[in-house]
Amino acid sequence: MTEQTKQQIETAEHSLLHTYNRFPLILDRGEGMYLYDTEGKRYLDFYSGIGVFALGHHYPGFDDALKAQIDKLLHSSNYFYNEPAMEAAEKLTKAAGLGRVFFTNSGAEAVEGALKCARRYAVNKGRKAAGIVAMEHSFHGRTFGALSVTGTESYRTPFEPLVGGVRFAKLNDMDSVRAAVADEPCALILEVIQGEGGILCAEDDFLREVRALCDEKDIVLIFDEVQCGMGRSGDLFAWEKAGVKPDIMTLAKALGGGVPVGAFLVREEVAAQGLQPGDHGTTLGGNPFACAAVCKVLDLFEQDHIIDHVREVAPYLTERLEEIRSSASGITERRGRGLMQGLVFEKPVGEILARARENGLILINAGANVLRFLPPLIVTRREIDEMADLLKESL
Ligand SMILES: *Cc1c(COP(=O)(O)O)cnc(C)c1O
Repeated sequence: MTEQTKQQIETAEHSLLHTYNRFPLILDRGEGMYLYDTEGKRYLDFYSGIGVFALGHHYPGFDDALKAQIDKLLHSSNYFYNEPAMEAAEKLTKAAGLGRVFFTNSGAEAVEGALKCARRYAVNKGRKAAGIVAMEHSFHGRTFGALSVTGTESYRTPFEPLVGGVRFAKLNDMDSVRAAVADEPCALILEVIQGEGGILCAEDDFLREVRALCDEKDIVLIFDEVQCGMGRSGDLFAWEKAGVKPDIMTLAKALGGGVPVGAFLVREEVAAQGLQPGDHGTTLGGNPFACAAVCKVLDLFEQDHIIDHVREVAPYLTERLEEIRSSASGITERRGRGLMQGLVFEKPVGEILARARENGLILINAGANVLRFLPPLIVTRREIDEMADLLKESL
């Protein structure tokens, strides 16, 4: 690290609220699968801004669409219609087969909206059902509502009292889910592939049984696809593999290809009895700039067959990670699917992450002991090989 970088970081630490222990480098620009810091050092990007850069950096055609929208209008508020939001709503609801969408600025806001919608649905149906069932090891965001359904106790306890009536069940354990819904909650929320919690997949049968239980008890089933959605799993939405559709789905991270935008989508029947005019709102959510990004991401996914590419290349990532798991010591398991995978270590992975950065590879963790692999969806075999070489060097 140069003296200048050190100075910049020290200065920044006087003005930034200290909620993160950041890695000691300053990201400057990206190009395709690579990132550069302010000292000009190049890194292979295997974290894509926590699953945000689905199309990598400066994907052909993407920047031009954003620039064109900048030249027209950045913001409109929801007092008015704007064409990018109208178009994005049409495309997204069609792609998901869910009737309606509300655009937000982040994942946590999408979760907040989803929870409010479920609560309102139960209330409108004349039920007292106010509780929410969530999963252990889940992550849904840092706002009060989203935090209340996040499975990590250490995130929650300093901020109590949180939203009440939340019960946690075990992923892939129907008995624990049945026990948790005993007091008639309004909603059940889960990630089809848990991200922050350590890359844990919900089993297809579990999802089917949860769906059946929610149908039986009229519980609104919410899938949080903020991290696992938008092609990462090998399907546009991770629930497609099990053929289990939620009543509400949340999206963010990759939805805008790097532009901050989230959304929650609602099945028509739940929307009809859920949020009504005046019940929910946002100033910046659904702005034309963010929605132009959503439109372009969806167009490019289709035009360039991004999901087919994920399906083609992901098995190779699995193969190389399995090879590393079996040849290196201290790795107990490989988890996840598609381009959302994890290697589970016996010990915390902080030092491995630091050595990988020194070697020119950016990875992040998912919990203390799990290395997380979230490359841009445009990754090729060549870059998977490059990652595997750099990782081996770093172990
Ligand atoms: C990141 C994440 C969120 C929160 O998104 P923010 O944009 O950080 O608010 C919610 N749910 C899941 C599954 C996530 O991975």
